[in-house]
Amino acid sequence: MNNIVIFGAPGSGKGTQSDKIIAEFGVEHISTGEVLRAEIKAGTELGKTAALYINDGNLVPDALIIDMLSATLDKKGKDIKGVIFDGFPRTIAQAEALDKMGIAVDKVLSIELSDEEILKRLSGRRECASCRATYHIEDKPPVKEGKCDRCGGELICREDDKPETIKHRLAVYEDSTAPLK
Ligand code: ADP
Ligand code: ZN
Repeated sequence: MNNIVIFGAPGSGKGTQSDKIIAEFGVEHISTGEVLRAEIKAGTELGKTAALYINDGNLVPDALIIDMLSATLDKKGKDIKGVIFDGFPRTIAQAEALDKMGIAVDKVLSIELSDEEILKRLSGRRECASCRATYHIEDKPPVKEGKCDRCGGELICREDDKPETIKHRLAVYEDSTAPLK
């Protein structure tokens, strides 16, 4: 297996860089943020609990994340080349859990960006409500305002990309995730 962890503050572009690595190397993508948003959309118990944390810009508790990650990995099966972990581990406890699952990390990529650039990226970020493609109102605008180029879906601002919440997410990153680096 070839496992990669992609590390970086919220808005640093982990998802975008992951997509490029997947296209090049054919590894699987696991984004805990995406899995959580799918749970919220489907209205599951996990989704309902997770939304309470995510919408305020807090981390979802380790125990929930670790169970969810383990289930996501099981679903991928054994016959895979490797995984790119995007947004996991985000705490030291999560990293220890990954270790206990017997999953070796071959490479860690850390994306480093100034706070100023991060704020700009997050506040301008838009996401397609249907296919999850991402845009930026200035740097990567859609052809037709508010509509997805790929599927015509409606572009929305993520609940946790509201300005008040962005500041809090960056503080949480410094406190809980940066020490893991
Ligand atoms: P970003 O990197 O832009 O913050 P993500 O999609 O990775 O976006 O995560 C969105 C939110 O989902 C986080 O702010 C957090 O609340 C929750 N989340 C995602 N991954 C984890 C994780 N590994 N541990 C705890 N919470 C997580
Ligand atoms: Zn779309």
